[in-house]
Amino acid sequence: MTPEEKKAFEDELYTYVGKAIYSAPRKGYDDVNTAMIRQWSEVMGDKNPAYNDSEWAAKSQRGHTIAPPAMMYAWTQEGYKVASEGRPADGQVEMVQFFDRHGFSGSLGTNVDQEYFVEAKPGDSIFEESIIDSISEQKSTARGIGYFFETYAKFTNQDGVLIGTQRFRVFKFIPPVEAATAPAQDGALEVPTRAVSPRGQDNKWWWDACDEGKILIQRCQNCQTLRHPPRPMCGECQSTEWDSIESTLDGEVYSFVEMHHPKFPGYQYPLVVAVIDLAEGTRIIANVVGCEVKDIHIGMKIKGKVEQVDPKTMLPQFYPVAGSAA
Ligand SMILES: [Zn+2]
Repeated sequence: MTPEEKKAFEDELYTYVGKAIYSAPRKGYDDVNTAMIRQWSEVMGDKNPAYNDSEWAAKSQRGHTIAPPAMMYAWTQEGYKVASEGRPADGQVEMVQFFDRHGFSGSLGTNVDQEYFVEAKPGDSIFEESIIDSISEQKSTARGIGYFFETYAKFTNQDGVLIGTQRFRVFKFIPPVEAATAPAQDGALEVPTRAVSPRGQDNKWWWDACDEGKILIQRCQNCQTLRHPPRPMCGECQSTEWDSIESTLDGEVYSFVEMHHPKFPGYQYPLVVAVIDLAEGTRIIANVVGCEVKDIHIGMKIKGKVEQVDPKTMLPQFYPVAGSAA
């Protein structure tokens, strides 16, 4: 996608914001009923007597059973018919097809938020009205490049009373395989980067040093035992006092795999992931590069170099030591 194509795509995409998903409020196929409530409760392991124990419920303040509020969306779902016959065309289907036609064929439901206002009870009819509420700007995530869209649904009963609302968030993205085979175009889509390293209180120091080209190994200050990956306490003596030494990155292949599937954005294939015995005595997981996969073997001597592997990421990459690749 060139910048011009991206603009044209987004100009059309954002016209879907505010569109109704159904032309009229959609009525649930079945009214609220005890059979569906019982099955749902069994699957969810929810033993609340307010849902299924009619004797108990008759003596309760309500005087009758109710549907679990979280079932709200279940009443208006199409069910298994969709699997065999496809989902009937609606505003959301049209938008999803528009995404698919432009390569954003991956779908990932990311969030559901529901709010409940009024209880539903057996015999009630449930109606759903939904719109496409928002579409994000283009995002680059570990899954790939894409857009988040959010639908907003209102659920009412036969008296037109609002019983609850739901926001549903979906990420539509270019799946990595398609991204990998898409023709490269300068200045077009942003190159996918690898997943950002999670930096917490116990490991941020390690990644910060890696950013500066150094691979550190944590060392217990009490008993001098080395440990990796970083963690707050020594496994030998339980001391929380530690410092670190810098690894020479001299190592040996302890074990390795060639990753084929799924293909993640931001990686070069073939991709070899190895468990490496470092000369210092700890192990590290990293990629072995710079040779044919068939030449890599257990026990092979390798040497690491901290390199920039994508615009945001520094990582050690291990190369065969001359004469070691068989
Ligand atoms: Zn120790």
